[in-house]
Amino acid sequence: MALIIFRDATLIDGKGGDPLSPATIVVEDGVIREITVGKFKMAIPADAMTVNCYGKTLLPGLIDAHIHVGLFDGDENEQPRQNHPSMLIIKALKVMEDTLYQGFTTCRDAGGVDAGFREAQKLGLIKGPQLKVSGRPLSMTGGHGDCRLSTDRRNPYDEILGCSVICDGVSEVRKAAREELRRGADHIKIMAGGGCSSPTDEPDACQYSLEELEAIAYEANSAGKYALAHCYSNRSIQNCVKAGIKSIEHGNFMDRETAKLLHDADCWYVPTLTTYEVMTRKGEEFGIPDYFLRKMKMVYETAIEAVTNAYHEGVVIGSGSDVIGPAQPYKAMELELKARVLGPMGAIVSATRVNSAILCMDDKVGTIEPGKLADLIVVDGDPLNEISLLQDRSRICVIMQGGTFIKNTIN
Ligand SMILES: [Zn+2]
Repeated sequence: MALIIFRDATLIDGKGGDPLSPATIVVEDGVIREITVGKFKMAIPADAMTVNCYGKTLLPGLIDAHIHVGLFDGDENEQPRQNHPSMLIIKALKVMEDTLYQGFTTCRDAGGVDAGFREAQKLGLIKGPQLKVSGRPLSMTGGHGDCRLSTDRRNPYDEILGCSVICDGVSEVRKAAREELRRGADHIKIMAGGGCSSPTDEPDACQYSLEELEAIAYEANSAGKYALAHCYSNRSIQNCVKAGIKSIEHGNFMDRETAKLLHDADCWYVPTLTTYEVMTRKGEEFGIPDYFLRKMKMVYETAIEAVTNAYHEGVVIGSGSDVIGPAQPYKAMELELKARVLGPMGAIVSATRVNSAILCMDDKVGTIEPGKLADLIVVDGDPLNEISLLQDRSRICVIMQGGTFIKNTIN
């Protein structure tokens, strides 16, 4: 395949150093071959394609470490009842495609879709970010993944896209974890505390016993994978760390002491600010249930403080948006919100290099370096001065995934 040469770019390579300019990035056969800063000396072959990036910034394709491709309707608890099974898949595919056009070339689905989505993307059957999937999250009865109302006497759904598997007790949770691993999950998602969308619990509730969490983490770790846990309260987070869970999601109530535990245990922290920001602003317009909106507002109050606590304790902070329903198009807002604590460069590194490690893909994506996959975006302007420009699709001029142009408005 002919060379593709990005010329005269300002390069933010994802490693956190100062931007490099003018930079030339050479892509061949889907891979970044060479990076030159300053005068470009190589003879350009006649059949090479040159992309003039003057005034523009080239950075790694963005990574979102907490998405839900399978949650697209305003009321996620009604979603399984209101869609034909085929419609669930079709809507999820639309979310995947749109996520790629937001500049996200790789994502971790934090619960809901199975390995088929990952494989179909890999085979080029569907457009979307490269995926790591959780399969069905594990939730206890009445836990965050149990979407039944307290008046509901039905059995929980567990084989429908977007739903959790409800399991209780060490032997049931162990079996459920093994089953998700058998079905090809890249990691095991656990609902280890109350949540906002769940109708019958409160966010500060602690869910699952230490023994149950240990059994799940043991199975995930034994398979050479890891567990990630949805939780808010300090007690839930502490249980998860003790149980050997590697990735803590949301964590909105985290204090300094708990943050230190995360740091000492080498856990990752993936705060998800966007979902709270968008829902508190637009939840009423979106028509989400009252209990959901009330809890979203409540947990958002301490969200930035939790990220600040983690930052001061030196915790590795990943980037996730957790957007669902009509908030799906807002994934890149996470960088603007994270920048309030980490600064714009820190927010970019979190959504690129750090996230690539959290997805266990740092040998392939996450930075612009020779040998890495050519997953990159070119944006009009300087995201270090204006991080919000990443949310403006008209200013994302190039999206390249594995050397293929998904979008190119430059030439
Ligand atoms: Zn989530």
